Amino acid sequence: MMVNHDTRSTPTNHRGNPKLPIVFATGNPNKIREVNDLLAGQFEVQGLADIGCQLDLPETSPTIPGNALQKARFVYENFGVDCFSEDTGLEIEALGGEPGVLSARYAGEGKNSEDNMNLVLRNMAGEANRKARFYTVIALILDGEEHLFEGIAEGTIRNEKSGTDGFGYDPIFQPDGFGVTFAELSKAEKNAISHRGKAVRKLIDYLASLNH
Ligand code: IMP
Repeated sequence: MMVNHDTRSTPTNHRGNPKLPIVFATGNPNKIREVNDLLAGQFEVQGLADIGCQLDLPETSPTIPGNALQKARFVYENFGVDCFSEDTGLEIEALGGEPGVLSARYAGEGKNSEDNMNLVLRNMAGEANRKARFYTVIALILDGEEHLFEGIAEGTIRNEKSGTDGFGYDPIFQPDGFGVTFAELSKAEKNAISHRGKAVRKLIDYLASLNH
């Protein structure tokens, strides 16, 4: 008897159809984990390593949508695969929207999330207006066509860090309607209300509408 190994090993979705592979153009393993949890039921999410890309993606646009598009275009143009990319910024009202597009490098090149949060807390010391939001844009390139999906999570900046889950600025961001920070929520709870969760669900709805 012939065994078709290809068929046996092809991942399938809940309808038993082969999962459509899609490349998530990011080098950030935290983002891959979060997005994979949301997309994995229907799509086979591949990372840059899966397409042999070990390059740093360019992120030099002055805007979040611009950066998302820049990363997706780079992968599409250099590797010729359908892909999506994502860019996120923390926008704090009292800081005029900072750190915004500079969120990853707020405390300077080579600094980490702890440094970035410490700088935010210093700049926000004594500030009564704690209003902030996370803003995510996903750029999808499918057959050369570009699509953008946005997600926003409104909240406030805490006076100090709290919680150990999540990543980035999560320990200092308290989403509206909650008494805890993103870093004190489970992954599923964060995904249900987060900027990235909202943008990914729009991406999923769009991909699902393509008759997969
Ligand atoms: P980028 O989108 O990879 O450029 O990330 C911008 C910055 O925001 C990085 O410092 C990330 O750690 C941070 N960041 C992105 N998404 C989140 C999130 O969901 N929670 C907290 N910080 C985040």
